[in-house]
Amino acid sequence: MAAAKFFRRWYVLALLATGIVLLIGPCRFGYYSVCSVCGKIRHTSQRKLPLLEVPYWTENCEEETPLSEACRATGLVGDHQHEWLFGHGNNGGLSGFSCALGSGELITAASQSKEAAAFIKCVVRFESKDKAENWRKRLLDPLLSPAAVGAIENIGKFPAAGFDNAAEYVEWKKAHEKAVEDSIEEYRTHYLRD
Ligand SMILES: [Zn+2]
Repeated sequence: MAAAKFFRRWYVLALLATGIVLLIGPCRFGYYSVCSVCGKIRHTSQRKLPLLEVPYWTENCEEETPLSEACRATGLVGDHQHEWLFGHGNNGGLSGFSCALGSGELITAASQSKEAAAFIKCVVRFESKDKAENWRKRLLDPLLSPAAVGAIENIGKFPAAGFDNAAEYVEWKKAHEKAVEDSIEEYRTHYLRD
């Protein structure tokens, strides 16, 4: 009789524990990262049991962006080890909703900018690879990226379709290059002073 009672107690406890795990878990965690070399985006989905920090299942999915496509097509970036910067993630669950931000968030707008991608292609085509390389670095540097992409899109109003010939590009350059460079310089002196 005593043994039966003992087993019944354990049976109820095991049932309760399983119920709790099923009720509050497994937790899903989703986030994305951006490569600071080419601008590709990686989406990551993870599952973990409640209270455990180590995920038992992870799935990654890479997404080409306008900028990563431009860097690859122009040969600015070849085969490389992606340098993933954490962008943004959230952890949904009954325990609450938490959110995390990383420096990858700061280069997301540039990586997804059609104007920045068209600009990079035109600089390679009508000017030089060195100059385009300098712009790639600015666009994918978390500190400078917001100013660089803002300058191309808003100050320079660079067309998302780019330019088909050197004359049109040179005309754009004459009209906007100084204002574009000045705005980045102003950002650097105002916000990046150490
Ligand atoms: Zn990369």
